[in-house]
Amino acid sequence: GGAKDDAGVLGRVRVAVRLRPRNAEESMADADFADCVELQPELKRLKLRKNNWDSDTYEFDEVLTEFASQKRVYEVVAKPVVESVLSGYNGTVMAYGQTGTGKTFTLGRLGEEDTAARGIMVRSMEDILEHISPETDSVSVSYLQLYMETIQDLLDPANDNISIVEDPKNGDVSVPGATLVDIRDQQSFVELLRIGENHRFAANTKLNTESSRSHAILMVHIKRTVMGSEPVHSNDNGNASHLVKSLRPPLVRKGKLVVVDLAGSERIDKSGSEGHTLQEAKSINLSLSSLGKCINALAENSSHVPVRDSKLTRLLQDSFGGTARTSLIVTIGPSPRHRGETTSTIMFGQRAM
Ligand code: ADP
Ligand code: MG
Repeated sequence: GGAKDDAGVLGRVRVAVRLRPRNAEESMADADFADCVELQPELKRLKLRKNNWDSDTYEFDEVLTEFASQKRVYEVVAKPVVESVLSGYNGTVMAYGQTGTGKTFTLGRLGEEDTAARGIMVRSMEDILEHISPETDSVSVSYLQLYMETIQDLLDPANDNISIVEDPKNGDVSVPGATLVDIRDQQSFVELLRIGENHRFAANTKLNTESSRSHAILMVHIKRTVMGSEPVHSNDNGNASHLVKSLRPPLVRKGKLVVVDLAGSERIDKSGSEGHTLQEAKSINLSLSSLGKCINALAENSSHVPVRDSKLTRLLQDSFGGTARTSLIVTIGPSPRHRGETTSTIMFGQRAM
């Protein structure tokens, strides 16, 4: 584990847990059974019930109950990452958890009828557009699906095998084959997300798979031109006290925000009996376990982060560790039936801290 007070610490993964409320079925069928977890948000603690008498207690950076609003979730999980990206760093927000626990609800809701429902992708862009100036800055996005170690372009379905390119000079990772769309206003961004969602649905229908078996990856590139007389950040603690007084050529600051709606973390049985292939099971296990290894390495401050093992971690390699900021939100459901999956999700989150 890292320091608890991490306001200025870059590199460490911040981990939040979010519990979704019981759904109608769980309220009916499991009415006589207690939830498998009990949350103590003020203490940032979660108790996982072992039996009627005993439970294990875990601490997180943030504990979000079933009553936490989308706004609050954005503020504690994503806003610090977005701020860091606006000042020229890379950052990642990821949701990890069993299918049906609220990853897409947390990240991807468009909230067109109900603005309070908007998720992290939409709120991040809103925040970004508020902070940049259209004359000097630009925002562009790509939206990808990673399925069976293949990257597909959700903005152009014909583009279904995108390569990852690494710049040997600075370690920057890019996907030059992916569609990159300039974003000028919130409405066109929401529209783009909807198009991406539709393409994802169509692609998965064609491949006869479910979206829970692939990762959805939104990449937001911000390029800002900072005039020579403005404060220049020169250290990692956000302290912009170094005013540059002399005239300087404009500085270009680039930041990249990556938002990842991960494939469902549930153990999928490898027999294929539930309508998936052995290859599918293997590739999900590969990418999630290699992600786990990388964030464990970050948590342990290890000098070796094994990013090469999967496409997912290769794509993310310049967006976590180093000066990048990473937030992981692990999503869980309350049902005592899924205690096993909930336990392994909690452990994944704990190992990242
Ligand atoms: P996942 O993407 O992890 O498979 P979803 O985001 O699709 O899960 O959520 C599954 C269901 O639970 C959806 O119907 C969603 O609306 C509901 N849900 C998830 N999280 C919440 C929440 N915090 N509050 C209310 N409903 C939620
Ligand atoms: Mg989902």
